[in-house]
Amino acid sequence: MNDLLPDQSALWQYFEGTVQALMQRYGYAEIRTPIVEQTALFARSIGEVTDIVEKEMYTFEDRNGDSLTLRPEGTASCVRAAMEHGLLHNQTQRLWYQGPMFRHERPQKGRYRQFHQVGLEAFGLEGPDIDAEVILLTARLWQELGLYDHVTLELNSLGSNEARAAYRDKLVAYFEQHRDQLDEDSLRRLSSNPLRILDSKNPDMAPMLADAPRLMDHLDAASREHFEGLTALLEAAGIDYVINPRLVRGLDYYCRTVFEWTTTALGSQGTVCAGGRYDGLVEQLGGKPIPAVGFAMGIERLILLLETLELVPEAALGELDLYVLPMDDDATARAMLLAERLRSELPELRVQLHCGGGSFKSRIKKADRSGARLALLLGEDELAQGRATLKFLREEREQLSLDQDALAETLATLVSGEHA
Ligand code: ATP
Ligand code: MG
Repeated sequence: MNDLLPDQSALWQYFEGTVQALMQRYGYAEIRTPIVEQTALFARSIGEVTDIVEKEMYTFEDRNGDSLTLRPEGTASCVRAAMEHGLLHNQTQRLWYQGPMFRHERPQKGRYRQFHQVGLEAFGLEGPDIDAEVILLTARLWQELGLYDHVTLELNSLGSNEARAAYRDKLVAYFEQHRDQLDEDSLRRLSSNPLRILDSKNPDMAPMLADAPRLMDHLDAASREHFEGLTALLEAAGIDYVINPRLVRGLDYYCRTVFEWTTTALGSQGTVCAGGRYDGLVEQLGGKPIPAVGFAMGIERLILLLETLELVPEAALGELDLYVLPMDDDATARAMLLAERLRSELPELRVQLHCGGGSFKSRIKKADRSGARLALLLGEDELAQGRATLKFLREEREQLSLDQDALAETLATLVSGEHA
């Protein structure tokens, strides 16, 4: 579990701000749910024999003896809240959420015990058009962040529950034939969750898995049509994809479309966004059947990716534009008022006022250390003349003496471009 320190928070805000604006532009509304839920909610939705429920949840008893769990993902909570508040009665909903999730996994680069996801859920729509919309939204996000050329869209269809059950039998029969090649994890999954074996990262099993029967070849007609509808829409929108017949996802509730956006830039923790359709989940949790599709993306991994690829824009560095420096205590009040005036006139400008007095030398030192690009000096002479001295702290450039009334205009041109 990590602290988010000041040198990183501007980048997080840049990412979160970009996502939030995007969700609004597509007509999705934010939902915020508690970070704890009844344990049973996750066991029933994610599935008893998944990694998450078997070994990753932070579960505890509260003072009443109720079993509660820190949410390991967002979909179950979102469905629970939507049902509880009647948001799913004969209507569609486009919702998104963001926040911390908790999984007791082995910590490593790109994998933490408290991590953060942004996710989206669309309820009440069964066609491939909404699947495509959801994918287009993510594709636009990558474009806006400069990531589009660094990620790959992988697609698969899990078919209907019935088709998957039939396929499951074929798959188990195949694995039984190759039992000697299964690792310990896979042997355990053979009876509980054989599809998950397809997802194994063990290189020794790769050749055997490559020859396993493919779910894609055993789809029911309706799921096949749905999948073809989706790929046609993606092609119309110019979104490249690869079909990965071994993409099964680690949670039980998916059916039909599943997808992941992956990158090769982060080693083995390469999935940055994952989702799919879960038409059966609402009913499974006690509601009327309603189709649904969604995804979640891991914020830490995306932040890491932006840093690794050096795609952090200037504005996401969180640096100050201007340090307003009264040169002595007599100038404090005027400097404060001038800083306030600039904040009113240039709302985008990041202005810090020097506080805490000090000698002339120490004031200049603080201005240098502030990280600001510019300093505005106000001393006796400046005050007498209604002027201020603008000093460039990070470039070799002659300082300017400016009329206080003309300051905003000059500053606006100096910092425009940096905020673009
Ligand atoms: P993985 O195969 O990497 O374990 P998952 O199938 O468990 O992923 P999901 O539950 O689908 O992942 O979560 C969606 C996204 O959330 C992942 O693609 C990843 O970006 C992020 N994520 C999942 N677990 C963690 C974690 N422990 N730390 C950081 N990010 C995570
Ligand atoms: Mg996992």
